[in-house]
Amino acid sequence: MLEQIRFLIKLQAVDKTLFGLTQEQETIPLRLAELSLDEDRLGQALAAASADLEQVAAQRRELEASVEAVRQRMRKAESRLMGAKTQREYKAATAEIEEARDSVKGSEDLLLELMERHEALQRQVKSISEQHAVASAKVEAQRQELSRRAQEVGKLVSALDSERQELAKVVEETLLKEYDFIRKRKQGVALAPVSNGTCLACHMDIPPQQFNELQRLDKIMACQSCKRLLYWADAEPLADLK
Ligand SMILES: [Zn+2]
Repeated sequence: MLEQIRFLIKLQAVDKTLFGLTQEQETIPLRLAELSLDEDRLGQALAAASADLEQVAAQRRELEASVEAVRQRMRKAESRLMGAKTQREYKAATAEIEEARDSVKGSEDLLLELMERHEALQRQVKSISEQHAVASAKVEAQRQELSRRAQEVGKLVSALDSERQELAKVVEETLLKEYDFIRKRKQGVALAPVSNGTCLACHMDIPPQQFNELQRLDKIMACQSCKRLLYWADAEPLADLK
């Protein structure tokens, strides 16, 4: 029985590591999906601000072009005014210049507003774009780190799986079944060391009679509280497995 206890201790050590690694493996796809959230949010903000910028820039160009057209009309009217030979020509040119002046004046406030919005949006797009680049670089580095870790964990798991298969071969069949049954229900831990009369998995004291029996190392018993298989942790013949 001592030999079987030794096998179980080794098996449990492998299973404990395997359990942790498998848990980690399961979280990796979720962590990968979460990584992009910040980057995606900034990407959307950038697209929205860029669309606004484009719209305002187009409005500004349009208004500037129409103001320029009015100014040109005004310049032509001014040269007609210079060359006016009749009162009628003089009046017509003056009226046109005034009308053009009013029109330019009327556009000034809107043009100023558009210029301010245009410049503010340019600053906003630049700032979001910089944040987006920083987030992308960070996400990319984390993504690489995670996939490196995923590979590493995959290798460790497959190495430990083979080790486990070898160990499982030497454990008695009924004992192994019992061990696996408990392990699947107890977060990967089916075997519990007992020290000074206490089960170190659930920290409950075991009955003194059971502790005496355990110290003989000739059978495997279950903890009455957590149902895990027990062994005496301080046994001399097991000292090398600590
Ligand atoms: Zn227990």
